Amino acid sequence: MKWTEEAEEAVKKVPFFVRKRVRERVEKEASEAGKSIVTIAEVKATQQRYLSGMASEIKGYQLDTCFGPGGCPNRAYGGDDLLKRIEMLLKEEDLLGFLEKNVKGDLKFHHEFRITFSDCPNACSQPQIKDIGIIGAVLPAITDEKCSLCEACVGSCTEGAVSIDKEKEVPVINFDLCLKCGKCIKACPTETIVSGKNGFRILLGGKLGRHPRLARELGCILNDDAAFEIVKACINLYKNKSTGGKRFAEIFDEADFNEFEARFCKNALL
Ligand code: SF4
Ligand code: SF4
Ligand code: SF4
Repeated sequence: MKWTEEAEEAVKKVPFFVRKRVRERVEKEASEAGKSIVTIAEVKATQQRYLSGMASEIKGYQLDTCFGPGGCPNRAYGGDDLLKRIEMLLKEEDLLGFLEKNVKGDLKFHHEFRITFSDCPNACSQPQIKDIGIIGAVLPAITDEKCSLCEACVGSCTEGAVSIDKEKEVPVINFDLCLKCGKCIKACPTETIVSGKNGFRILLGGKLGRHPRLARELGCILNDDAAFEIVKACINLYKNKSTGGKRFAEIFDEADFNEFEARFCKNALL
């Protein structure tokens, strides 16, 4: 749906953690009213209704994605199936019921458990400040196809993770530097570098607010099933340890991180 410039500017002023929802709601309400263009009047009316009825909008969790599923060309690996499984899990876990029992007073958006997907390391959906951040990853693999020594792969990698072994005439990937974005794969004209395994980087325990902290990343890449299991384990831990509306980042300590890393990284893809 088209937005006027004034309407776009107005929605940018809405707090970022509700902006996406407000935007979706504005479009839904405008479309129900038979409008094809969103103007400032639609934004103001929806914003007012939305913010005054915040408590009824709270569902106990927030699950969102970057624009990868909409066709972003940078997408390394999309977690569409995993996203659906996690959404079902979040509903089954009844986080809203959990919060209602644990939080005194009105529930607010900041109480909700947050999970986000980014489909490449550009991390547009801010996985570093969510309870669980999931970043799609593709592992480049070297095949027997003859390398033309064009060095397109070297030029495509902003991490300096690709080099060419001139003697053996093969590309070499330094996985300590590689962010698993897949750009070298797309750049290679000879299929000497191709997609290997796909999986997810996992970041745990990020938040903003009065005591912000960045999520810590597990030192491994997990497949879909292992990523699902770690989300399950995080929700269990949160429900066991969180009281009074404490965020996951506040209850997830060093020992938990180490235990999760030992448990989930032992059978990781990388
Ligand atoms: S995180 Fe990557 S795939 Fe997702 S919208 Fe940003 S650039 Fe595109
Ligand atoms: S996947 Fe991305 S970060 Fe890794 S080597 Fe290729 S271009 Fe570099
Ligand atoms: S691996 Fe592919 S992109 Fe890299 S130098 Fe060889 S042919 Fe070129």
